Amino acid sequence: MSIGLKLFQSLGIDTYQLRDKPKVLNQDHENDWASIESKVATCKKCSLHKGRNNTVFGDGNRNADWFFVGEAPGKDEDLQGKPFVGRAGRLLTEVIFSLGLTRDEVFIANILKCRPPDNRDPKPGEVDQCFSYLEKQIDLVQPKIIIAVGRIAAHSLLGSDLPMGKLRGKIHGFGSNEVPTLVIYHPAYLLRSPSQKHKVWEDLQLANDFLE
Ligand code: URA
Ligand code: SF4
Repeated sequence: MSIGLKLFQSLGIDTYQLRDKPKVLNQDHENDWASIESKVATCKKCSLHKGRNNTVFGDGNRNADWFFVGEAPGKDEDLQGKPFVGRAGRLLTEVIFSLGLTRDEVFIANILKCRPPDNRDPKPGEVDQCFSYLEKQIDLVQPKIIIAVGRIAAHSLLGSDLPMGKLRGKIHGFGSNEVPTLVIYHPAYLLRSPSQKHKVWEDLQLANDFLE
């Protein structure tokens, strides 16, 4: 809350904070969520369905300002049916915490909803088949900013093949609505190269400044 707003409130003056874009939350919305959830749960559009234990739909706040997009479920995610719950996930949770947010306050999903064997990179055909689910999720959440976590998410969302060093450090636009999108290094990479953590911190400051 801004200092000005706090001052008004401490003086007992009614204050209102308008969102720039009011979010529509109605029965249609609920139905849309239920519809993609059940489509993903039974999806066989690509061959990854054969090896999965669980689909990983994504979770968090369906009204979130921040929408984190990872690559694909790994072993732990496939077993639990939840995104980012393994080692890299714990680091992402810390990154979210460093923003003064909890996982319940943001939305987290992946480009692919099923685990690729041995965590190999998603194939372009798999991304093509799965992408509409993520697009619909972003459409429903209407986030103020998307955080593309890692190279695969960045390339898939931005339709770019530039290296991470060129994609990070600025705000891009996703889709026809040009949803502001920031690219950060994947926590699995940060676990291997901890000296790069400061870059994620710097990039997230950029997102924070942008939202303010
Ligand atoms: N890595 C990802 O990109 N997504 C997950 O859900 C877990 C690890
Ligand atoms: Fe369907 Fe996506 Fe799973 Fe492929 S990865 S089976 S498209 S949900």
